[in-house]
Amino acid sequence: MSLTEKILSLKKEKKALILAHNYQRAEIQDVADYVGDSIELSRKAAQEKDAEMIVFAAVDFMAESAAILNPAKKVLLPCLGARCPMAQMVTADEIKRAKSKYPNAPVVMYVNTLASSKALCDVCCTSANVVEVIESLDAETILFGPDRNLAQYAAEKTGKTLIPVPEFGFCPTHLLFQPEDATVLKMQHPDATIMVHPECSGEMRKVADYVGSTSKMCRFAKESNAKTFIVGTEEGILHRLRKENPDKNFLLAYPDAVCPNMKLTTLDRLYIALKEEKNVVKVPENVAEKARASLERMFEV
Ligand code: SF4
Repeated sequence: MSLTEKILSLKKEKKALILAHNYQRAEIQDVADYVGDSIELSRKAAQEKDAEMIVFAAVDFMAESAAILNPAKKVLLPCLGARCPMAQMVTADEIKRAKSKYPNAPVVMYVNTLASSKALCDVCCTSANVVEVIESLDAETILFGPDRNLAQYAAEKTGKTLIPVPEFGFCPTHLLFQPEDATVLKMQHPDATIMVHPECSGEMRKVADYVGSTSKMCRFAKESNAKTFIVGTEEGILHRLRKENPDKNFLLAYPDAVCPNMKLTTLDRLYIALKEEKNVVKVPENVAEKARASLERMFEV
């Protein structure tokens, strides 16, 4: 029996749901029940009433969100070392300091944060709904963390002042994309459409035809008449894009844009976690309750 077959059979036996983020390895995406972005997946998990266990193939903060939104289910993270560096860039102390400096400014935290930061904010947002969340707030000055690029993108779209917390939070993988590379690729493929994630720099967004989250990029690629796309986000998304659009051509805007943390999930690690039911992600209830409220406020928007 192959490892994939063993995982599928164990999954059935244990009534487990396997969720894989768009940036996961191709073989992990292929074994998953659902592939998507973090919040899409957490909501899917909540809808699956029969599932008793969730294996979240992703990084720490995503499994935490799934545990917060699905308190009755056991959530496993196949590799405990899969930690998002951007989520670690904002600390509770920093948020408290910013709040004391701007007491009237609401605090918005990107979902790419740890539960302890989510618990301290007024509302969370994703890269897909950041503009709607910022617009929904009755304030012109807003504290926003941890991604400075996403803050700039939302400020451009809404005309509001977003104060980054911390000052220079960023995703190391999206920082690898540079406009020169995309421009050279575009010269080689003049009919290509450039689509990038809002975690990319402002310079990268300027050369793009489309800026959107991973879920929005997938929708855009399906609906667009373009045949070739230059993609500015983590390479794992190419597997899903190619699977969903076999007649279209997808090129990564920088060939080494790989998130090493996302790639820590392997079939072996997933199999062991599921077999031994280990690496259970737990969020203390006092933190989970506040973080859940910030996530639920986002869903209301
Ligand atoms: S791609 Fe960036 S934001 Fe996403 S998990 Fe990796 S480091 Fe974190």
